[in-house]
Amino acid sequence: MRNAMIDVDVLIVGSGPVGATCARLLVDDGQLNVLMVDAGPLLTQRAGQHVRNLAEQPRLEAQVAAQGPTAFRYSVPSMPERANAAVSGDYRLEHLVRPGTHLPNGERWGDLPAAACSTNVGGMGAHWTCACPPPAEGEAISFIPAAQMQAALAKARELLQVTAAAYPDTPVSQRLRERLGSAFADVTTATRAVQRMPLACSSDNTQRRWSGSDTILGTLAEPSGRPERFEIRHDTACLQLRVKHDRIVGADLLDRASGTRYQVDAKTVIVAADALRTPQLLWASGIRPEALGRYLNDQPQVVHAVRLDADECGISQSGADPTVGVYWVPYDRQHHPFHGQVMQMEACPVALADEAQADVEHIVAMGWFCCKQDIRAQDRVHFSETEKDFLGLPAMTLDYSLTDRDLEQVGKARDLLQRAGKALGTPLGEAPLMLPPGSSLHYQGTTRMGEADDGTSVCDDHGQVWRFHNLYVAGNGVIPTPTACNPTLTSVALAVRTCERILQERRP
Ligand SMILES: Cc1cc2nc3c(=O)[nH]c(=O)nc-3n(C[C@H](O)[C@H](O)[C@H](O)COP(=O)(O)OP(=O)(O)OC[C@H]3O[C@@H](n4cnc5c(N)ncnc54)[C@H](O)[C@@H]3O)c2cc1C
Repeated sequence: MRNAMIDVDVLIVGSGPVGATCARLLVDDGQLNVLMVDAGPLLTQRAGQHVRNLAEQPRLEAQVAAQGPTAFRYSVPSMPERANAAVSGDYRLEHLVRPGTHLPNGERWGDLPAAACSTNVGGMGAHWTCACPPPAEGEAISFIPAAQMQAALAKARELLQVTAAAYPDTPVSQRLRERLGSAFADVTTATRAVQRMPLACSSDNTQRRWSGSDTILGTLAEPSGRPERFEIRHDTACLQLRVKHDRIVGADLLDRASGTRYQVDAKTVIVAADALRTPQLLWASGIRPEALGRYLNDQPQVVHAVRLDADECGISQSGADPTVGVYWVPYDRQHHPFHGQVMQMEACPVALADEAQADVEHIVAMGWFCCKQDIRAQDRVHFSETEKDFLGLPAMTLDYSLTDRDLEQVGKARDLLQRAGKALGTPLGEAPLMLPPGSSLHYQGTTRMGEADDGTSVCDDHGQVWRFHNLYVAGNGVIPTPTACNPTLTSVALAVRTCERILQERRP
């Protein structure tokens, strides 16, 4: 322990984009002592940087360091290997996880085989693709007033530095967009037409700086920029919250470097430890509302790659084209309840084509995320009474399945991908491929919000856990609706509301 903050106003568990949002807003208010702990290591001196901003060697080292119990380098499987694994269901570890992530228990674990976490300061926000589309009608949370949600989304965009202009809008990219736009004209609307993807990224048109937790933290990401009343404690796992009646009085922390277990007192606690490990910590603390860990919702993901029609698209030079960028085919509740992404390989988190091939040809990746149709209490995480995971928290297992209606959506997504592929050039490989369940990395619902404490939710519309005055949950787990869009912008916006509530409650 470097300095010993042991009595704090706010303890934040988890330093991903959501924990970082809470830290920034609460520290900026100027009054509160805030301690943010993360079970994983500090990857970069500036806390929570996106590893894509690093040079190759430090990036590889940072990715490995983030992989918790499986801290070794994954080889990236080829497209045919992935396709075979998808057909046979016989996945190897490297088919399931991406660099910088690890399976929660470190090994294959059931019905959502690719469900993964990152354990490092900055969380998955150090490894993400940075796509930040806003939720549309149908994805939005009906019991949060629309104007309030729009204001929170605007703040989230500011914190994450979201822009649709990360890549230059060249004639080539306009042509690609036009082609996609024509192909999807029947399912998109004028206000949500095919467009450039909003990305959490700053750019000077030639170089991009991808947003991580450090972007959100601003000066707080630098040790020298932190006031005395704010500390980030890395390699520090929260093992248990200490409960007294209807309040949390503090937490038991583990300094993983020395193996020392110690306590901090806290007036308010926010758990932002991802959608699997937030319910895990509550459960370990004896806080076990009926809905905890249930209503698990993963977005089935179907992918394909396409070789662009260079002549038709007006691409003259050979080799990877940095002007291709990332395009968005938005969700529409009625006509297109999917979220479509077309990405240049540089921005794609899944290896869909041989890297060498992508270097000499104009190949782009396409991914369609489906809305889970049936959100069910039986789709859930279980926590063991006896077994522990690598951090010393209850080991997790899953019950999860796709229903016939979900699989029907997957079939429709395959058709849409064929359509997008034909609009752009020549699809590679036989057919669009559904990635192993869990691959979206967008798990939701396990600490879902609700309108009432009726057994179907864990917290209210500001993330305050039912029956606890000073305990909040934040992150993708609180999203209760079936969504197709990438969830981080929404989760950061919901965390903005959580902070507003905390600051309001603490004011005289
Ligand atoms: C390759 C990849 C691509 C992605 N692409 C996108 C995208 O384009 N758009 C999008 O919206 N989302 C994307 N995501 C998902 C996105 O990164 C997550 O939605 C986001 O990071 C969630 O933020 P969070 O702060 O809630 O959780 P996380 O970022 O997961 O952070 C949780 C933190 O909690 C810590 N923690 C867990 N348990 C404990 C404990 N007991 N004690 C202390 N600390 C603990 C972990 O170490 C971790 O650092 C992607 C993720 C990956 C990996």
